[in-house]
Amino acid sequence: MDARVRTGGCLCGAVRYSVRGEPVHVRRCHCANCRKESGSAFTVYALWPVDAFEISGELSSFDGRGFCPRCGSRVIDTSDPDGALVEIRLGSLDDELRPDDEIWVKRRESWLPPVEGAVQHYER
Ligand SMILES: [Zn+2]
Ligand SMILES: [Zn+2]
Repeated sequence: MDARVRTGGCLCGAVRYSVRGEPVHVRRCHCANCRKESGSAFTVYALWPVDAFEISGELSSFDGRGFCPRCGSRVIDTSDPDGALVEIRLGSLDDELRPDDEIWVKRRESWLPPVEGAVQHYER
């Protein structure tokens, strides 16, 4: 049986990628860095093994945070210290996934409810 393949990409379509199989972990993060770099109140990302990941198109990056140089969309993160996992920004996926946990919930906006069923971590 072939593993499920999911696809995604940036807003302008210059960067496209695919991931094979199920993610290792799906997480919502409310930390100060995620807030700044996304310009939003939190980020949600899924982790896949690097060898399950393929990408086409050119990426620029800041401190491991990969973005499309044309439209500025954040797409992936390659800052995993072991280089074993790639972080995929959930909003760039063509599919829906549900977070397993939430971290840095002490910084979560007061109007934002927890994800039902997701493990809650005060910090990380
Ligand atoms: Zn783009
Ligand atoms: Zn974060």
